[in-house]
Amino acid sequence: MYIPEHDWHDWRWQFANRLRTEADFAQLIELTDSEKEALSNPSFAVAVTPYFASLIDKHNPNCPIRRQAIPLVEESIPDIHGLVDPLAEDAMSPVSNLVHRYPDRVLLIVTETCHMYCRHCTRRRRVGFKEKPISKADLENAAGYIQQNPYIRDVLISGGDPLTLSDQSLEQIIKAIREIPHVEIIRIGTRAPVTNPFRITPKLVRMLRKYHPLWINVQFNHPLEITPEASQACAMLADAGVPLGNQTVLLRGINDSVAVQKELVHKLVQIRVRPYYLYQCDLAAGIGHFRTPVSLGIEVMEQLHGHTSGFAIPTFVVDAPGGGGKIPILPQYMICQTPEKIVIRNYEGKIFSYPKPNPK
Ligand SMILES: *Cc1c(COP(=O)(O)O)cnc(C)c1O
Ligand code: SF4
Repeated sequence: MYIPEHDWHDWRWQFANRLRTEADFAQLIELTDSEKEALSNPSFAVAVTPYFASLIDKHNPNCPIRRQAIPLVEESIPDIHGLVDPLAEDAMSPVSNLVHRYPDRVLLIVTETCHMYCRHCTRRRRVGFKEKPISKADLENAAGYIQQNPYIRDVLISGGDPLTLSDQSLEQIIKAIREIPHVEIIRIGTRAPVTNPFRITPKLVRMLRKYHPLWINVQFNHPLEITPEASQACAMLADAGVPLGNQTVLLRGINDSVAVQKELVHKLVQIRVRPYYLYQCDLAAGIGHFRTPVSLGIEVMEQLHGHTSGFAIPTFVVDAPGGGGKIPILPQYMICQTPEKIVIRNYEGKIFSYPKPNPK
């Protein structure tokens, strides 16, 4: 099929032409039985931009791009550890669309729509159903809550994907938050640079830079996602002074090796995206087949600390089931602690001791 260049590079065209059905995908690749069955009755929304679908290796059913985009029957298999709301977001929502888990920052869910529905989505209980963004009344309500809580200094605009909104709708939201004097930092969580990089337009970037300090966190899970298009999107944001962070989810069969994680962080820093978090896959029902042992994440951290640039190293976290928040996990570097000293080891396994300060 011939697609004019200006259509392909238009994020709205990409969005409008997302692959959603078995027939759509069958035009591109030979589907497996598991994929066909899952697509005939998906337990979570399916939509993939033609751009992201174009990165799929047609001959590899285990392609890491494909496995993030096309469902398998495993998504519908009951899982004894599966939870509908694994991070207890709904219980920690004082007003509609807002999650307040930590003292000084909140998460504001502004849409339930995404450019692509990631098969490992933790928020699958509420994402992908309605195409309508946050209502004016709910936005006012959420802004009112933030206004009344002077401890809130950091507002994380998330979804769904906030960059599915028009520039105008997004600006209304950012503006409403920016007007609150005690909000120091605004952050946006988006996968657009990965799943629909054409969303990052000169016009969007001109709008965003008016609201600094504004940070953006993206989600690259595999080095194959770092294409020229994605790199360009990140460059435009970085050039506009937006600090970029990356949140990777550890996913079995997709990026569950030290080699892939190392290549990923090295490619990220080349496009000026700083690895921020490496997430242990959470317990959302339907994604159990993506879970890896926690020991794998520890092994990844062991092979990064000391071995590569400090700014290329994310923090490995388990987002505690039940709403405990993100808990950092490191390999054990402190061997013992006595009244006189601590005994520590370095990345090569060499042992050192560090004495406590002299008495005054
Ligand atoms: C992850 C998260 C945040 C942000 O946490 P940071 O560690 O500051 O990135 C805020 N609120 C909620 C509910 C979250 O899940
Ligand atoms: S972009 Fe985020 S919210 Fe949307 S499906 Fe992917 S993980 Fe879920």
